[in-house]
Amino acid sequence: MGTRAAEQREEARRLAARMEAEGVRNVALTWVDNAGITRVKAVPVQRLADAAERGVGMSPVFDVFTSGDAITESEHLGGPDGDLRLFPDLDRLTPLAAQPGWAWAPVDRYDQLGRPHPACQRQFARRMTERAAAAGLELRMGFETEWVVTRAPAGHTAAATDAYEALDYPCAGPAYGMTRVVELSDYLRDVSEALSVQDIDVLQVHPEYAPGQFEITTAPGDPVRAADDAVLVRETVRAVSARHGLRASFAPSVVAGQVGNGCHLHLSLYRDGVSLHRTPDADWGLAPDAVAFLGGILGALPALLAIGCPSPASYLRLQPSHWAGVYQCWGVENREAALRLITGAPDDPDGGHAEVKTFDAAANPYLAVGAVIAAGLHGIESATRLPAPQTGDPGTFGVRERARRGIVRLPATLTEAADRLEKSAPLYEALGEVLHSAVLAVRRAEEAHFAENDAEEIAAATRWRW
Ligand code: GLU
Ligand code: MG
Repeated sequence: MGTRAAEQREEARRLAARMEAEGVRNVALTWVDNAGITRVKAVPVQRLADAAERGVGMSPVFDVFTSGDAITESEHLGGPDGDLRLFPDLDRLTPLAAQPGWAWAPVDRYDQLGRPHPACQRQFARRMTERAAAAGLELRMGFETEWVVTRAPAGHTAAATDAYEALDYPCAGPAYGMTRVVELSDYLRDVSEALSVQDIDVLQVHPEYAPGQFEITTAPGDPVRAADDAVLVRETVRAVSARHGLRASFAPSVVAGQVGNGCHLHLSLYRDGVSLHRTPDADWGLAPDAVAFLGGILGALPALLAIGCPSPASYLRLQPSHWAGVYQCWGVENREAALRLITGAPDDPDGGHAEVKTFDAAANPYLAVGAVIAAGLHGIESATRLPAPQTGDPGTFGVRERARRGIVRLPATLTEAADRLEKSAPLYEALGEVLHSAVLAVRRAEEAHFAENDAEEIAAATRWRW
């Protein structure tokens, strides 16, 4: 590690000097825990070189933190002992436009001897990306960020455990309505401006369905980068909201019973730079490997839900006919299918991709991209085929029609999803024992914590957690 550490130190010193001259004082070093919470240690910019060389200490106990900051344990993790080192990825070091004086970098986690921490979610995502590359496949991914914006309450009592807290929306216009864009014109401009200054390539920004709800989509890229971007987009929206006296909720269910916030994962496959979604004369343009990869994802969805929909609140959102993709089926441009194939314009070489609609922003994005790649690669290894695509909304079909079409409901509770993850051999193999058991321990603790709560109480308790 010697030469590399020295090189990192030198690089960090150079970057820190430049940032200090630009007014940066602190660097926020973030990682996302298994409950989907972005945790942080910050260092003064002058200490960035030390951080790059030796890492910054943080306890491994955060691997078994719940979204409510309770601490559980797994067979391998938990308790007060031990320490890890957080190493910033200097390639992603970014001054934060909506937090003057601050910069940000995501971290990888190692032990004190410099060995990768087996529960490091970001390295898991990288390992799976490399596994795909070893099979000749390049993945391009991107998350769609949805959030609900409200006025920050006077006094800002952020705990918000009151189940009946009334939300005060700063815009009243209709779903997808231009009215909302006019009402929050400066706010949305500032969100776009901050993201653009931070080198995030925004594709679209628009109002969504639920009251106060908006969405931002970003350009696809390397899976680890996509997960980093998801973190940066969310924290930027949060920071811009605060500067406008607003508050952003990324929770799966902001108000129980309403359309919630999804965090759909878009993905496309390439071999030698050529899209596998643009194969001439193939059904839906999909090359055989793309069919098998998507078939692998579709087959693994019940287990993947424990990664992509990790909170009891996730299952409040997962209602039929809410555009959340709660049935295990796929469809071409079908917004009620859990896996949606998007064909794009025929003359666009990058136009075709797929979307996992079921996931939400309580998910750790690094676990989400890694697990989806693992499921897809398993699909290729086992030559999985895709069943017939579905059209229409399975939620309106009736039990007999769904059975005729072979459509089953995805897990409707976190317990069911966690049971499926527990039994999933490919995901166990990909995550490894330490990470797999830590994720399950957190899921079981979340279930136990909310076992006695009704839907409104769960939504209220989790509304401001992510
Ligand atoms: N808000 C919807 C969800 O919960 C998604 C709406 C859409 O983008 O299709 O996933
Ligand atoms: Mg959307």
